[in-house]
Amino acid sequence: MGGGAAGLATAIFTRRRAPRLDVLVLDGARKLGAKILVSGGGRCNVTNRVVTPADFSGGSRNVIKRVLAAFPAERTVAFFRELGVDMYAEPDNGKLFPTTNSAKSVLGALLAECERIGVRIRADHRVTDIRRGPDGFSVTVGASDFTATRVVLATGGQSLPKTGSDGFGYTLARRLGHTLVPLTPALDPLVLAGDFHPPLSGISQTVELTVQAAGDRPHRVRGILLWTHFGISGPGVLDISRHWHRARAAERDVALTVNFLPGDDFVRAESRLIELGAAQPRLQLHNALARLLPARLADALLAALAIAATTPMAHLSRDARRRLAHALIAWPLSVRSGRGYGFAEATAGGVPLGEVDARTLASRPCPGLHLAGEILDVDGRIGGFNFQWAWSSAHVVAAALADIPTPG
Ligand SMILES: Cc1cc2nc3c(=O)[nH]c(=O)nc-3n(C[C@H](O)[C@H](O)[C@H](O)COP(=O)(O)OP(=O)(O)OC[C@H]3O[C@@H](n4cnc5c(N)ncnc54)[C@H](O)[C@@H]3O)c2cc1C
Repeated sequence: MGGGAAGLATAIFTRRRAPRLDVLVLDGARKLGAKILVSGGGRCNVTNRVVTPADFSGGSRNVIKRVLAAFPAERTVAFFRELGVDMYAEPDNGKLFPTTNSAKSVLGALLAECERIGVRIRADHRVTDIRRGPDGFSVTVGASDFTATRVVLATGGQSLPKTGSDGFGYTLARRLGHTLVPLTPALDPLVLAGDFHPPLSGISQTVELTVQAAGDRPHRVRGILLWTHFGISGPGVLDISRHWHRARAAERDVALTVNFLPGDDFVRAESRLIELGAAQPRLQLHNALARLLPARLADALLAALAIAATTPMAHLSRDARRRLAHALIAWPLSVRSGRGYGFAEATAGGVPLGEVDARTLASRPCPGLHLAGEILDVDGRIGGFNFQWAWSSAHVVAAALADIPTPG
């Protein structure tokens, strides 16, 4: 149940491999595929040219590797090509988008294929309970019960709940015997305290972000940071946000710092300032800094450090230079919170991979149940990886369902 990316793909792969099976998709939303439609800014970043287990966080890397290998990104591209959706890659990051640049063509192709091969779809059918009996499952929707020999939970996470993925699938999984790895938002913009960020709103720059939680190794991400009126966003920030959330959920002290000169350490940052001063001793500090950073950020940093912006480089004291070098490579960002599930693009945590069979994604505590997509404890970074997980996990589940012996 669940007719998002993972649910629709499971239904298609299953019917294609085993046309004898009756496949019914139940979805609570009035219209299916809302998340596909909003994805990738309405363009739907379907997958990535290169997908590896290192692009994901959550449960066992080995299980993730196995699932991805069963249906890698090349097969996603071939699958969509068959459905009439060609893709192109963005050169700098490998993100694959439909050539139509429209998520509608992706959703339309999936729904048309469902219709062509006889997948039955019921929208506005929110499942409120699932019970397992001796002869299979009883699935409750309002006052009706559906019976099924197998059930696939593909109810997604709980980000952007207005799309229909409101997290109730996790409750159903628990009722059927699963535990949950604690849930947090992932790919979430971060809200900052203080008044440093508002004047910078609109500036976007490549940085290196580090989350350091007490008792944990540091997590580093290089990527674009976008300053906003509430704090920070942009792909680099979204990618690092899950580590900040995980640390906070574990009640650990956590610090987020930004290196405005990605790749530089303190020594390199200080020598850049020394070199700028040696080359142009009369150049004012803010103009010198503007060669390394957006000018508005340079001014904001100098103001925050109480170093006069008009200081000629030749007059910059050693102490000020060292404080500035340190600020450039490890500027602390005081995170108040994430923006939360209403804005996050994914959910971290979920049904532990240890509770499913890696070959079939069959539930261990509840025989006959399978799980696909974001409900599992896997979250990908920005770049099409979350959808790739949906397609790959759907394929693994479908292969297992297609092997079910025909009754009688
Ligand atoms: C704004 C935004 C942009 C994104 N952009 C991208 C992108 O470009 N590339 C990428 O890879 N990922 C992107 N993602 C993430 C991606 O959309 C998800 O990881 C992916 O959709 C997960 O697929 P899923 O099928 O597991 O879950 P979902 O797509 O969330 O589908 C779950 C379905 O289950 C239904 N459902 C839930 N509970 C019930 C119930 N009780 N009964 C019946 N039905 C139920 C829901 O209505 C929904 O249709 C984006 C996410 C957001 C929020």
